[in-house]
Amino acid sequence: MTPNPARTREDDSMITPAWRIRDAVDVDMPLIRELFVEEGFTDLTDPTGIRVAATPDNTMLGACRSEQGSDGHWNIRPVVVFDVVQHHGVGASLLRDALKRHPDMYLVSRGEIEPFYLACGFERCSWEEIAPEFQNECAQCADRASCGPIPFKAKDVDLTLTFLGTSSGCGVPAFFCHCPSCEAARENPALRRTCTGVVLRGRGTTLIDTPPDLRAQLVREDVHDIDEVFLTHAHYDHLGGFGELEYLIRLYQDRPMPFHASAPAMNEVFKEFSYMDDIFAIDYLEEFDTRTVSDGLTIQALPLNHCPGAMGYLITSSSGKRTFYAPDTAELKPDVIRLLKGVDNLIMDSTFWGEAGNFKTHHSMQQTIDEGINLLDAGAIYLTHLAPHICEPDENVIDELYAYVKQFEGRVIVAEDGMKVPLS
Ligand SMILES: [Zn+2]
Ligand SMILES: [Zn+2]
Ligand SMILES: [Zn+2]
Repeated sequence: MTPNPARTREDDSMITPAWRIRDAVDVDMPLIRELFVEEGFTDLTDPTGIRVAATPDNTMLGACRSEQGSDGHWNIRPVVVFDVVQHHGVGASLLRDALKRHPDMYLVSRGEIEPFYLACGFERCSWEEIAPEFQNECAQCADRASCGPIPFKAKDVDLTLTFLGTSSGCGVPAFFCHCPSCEAARENPALRRTCTGVVLRGRGTTLIDTPPDLRAQLVREDVHDIDEVFLTHAHYDHLGGFGELEYLIRLYQDRPMPFHASAPAMNEVFKEFSYMDDIFAIDYLEEFDTRTVSDGLTIQALPLNHCPGAMGYLITSSSGKRTFYAPDTAELKPDVIRLLKGVDNLIMDSTFWGEAGNFKTHHSMQQTIDEGINLLDAGAIYLTHLAPHICEPDENVIDELYAYVKQFEGRVIVAEDGMKVPLS
């Protein structure tokens, strides 16, 4: 039994991919068994842990099983592609999919396939790093000499948060504003700021907020795909670009995108975007709920004083590094302060300069610095959601801010569009 030949690379110009990766189901099992038996895996009982690459008309091109060993590590056991569609990137995309879920991935490969795994982000490791039961399979295998098995583990990848935008609503320059900061940004495009949002990237991509400038921001940062999205709250400067996700999901991904927000925020979103409620896997977040996303990151929703259901997100890497993102918040709640003591990166609302502005819903730049140092003892403090417009006629607030943070010798950082923060 062989599938129809897959479409080839020539089809890459099409917006719809030639194949997509999905969970295996029971009816896939006869074909998967046929594939896996050739690699010596005869132990298949059910589709648990198996992902398949399939064309839009559901022709299976290949399959990959992730299995946890007795040492807790995940292993590829195995990844196999039908002969007729080899060398089209199907195996590589199955591996990318597996690595997003389990960054600490191991495998044992036939010696001759080494170049493929090296190209897919693996490196050789020692046999001791492979779970004993999987080592034994190779040790007892009659084909060991001809197979020449090699143990591999996935290489580490950089895990970063990128600032898509760093201004409050209306940006810098605001089209109607002639404050010194806006006039300077009109003169020099490098000084411009777009509305606040961030993207977390490793092997996977998680978006927090969908600002009105989202499409241009994603193009600027070379983001080609998004796995899931979190929303801090449903104000326009954080939500206005939500519609940009529609065609990514409908045409390209063809599966509901996980979307996480509080119930009040979710209700506001679908009042505005009612025609998009069929393309998201809606996840209502309660205060202090935690979710795990790709690359082993956990994201905890912490309630903020800003508007009903506003959340900040505490992002923790598998190495334990903690980063808190709260672009819009007034005074922090006592329970949140307790959780944030000693946070590694604090990225917080720094809307106003000095005494100007509305502190019932926001922070000033000076307040965030003070709280970051004296209340939370944060390792690094990033100032974002900047609104420099309320100022004296000759006062360039952004210039003043850069001069002011110098006294903190690198611990306080003025966030800029495109700036990256290491998450691990
Ligand atoms: Zn805002
Ligand atoms: Zn807001
Ligand atoms: Zn201005």
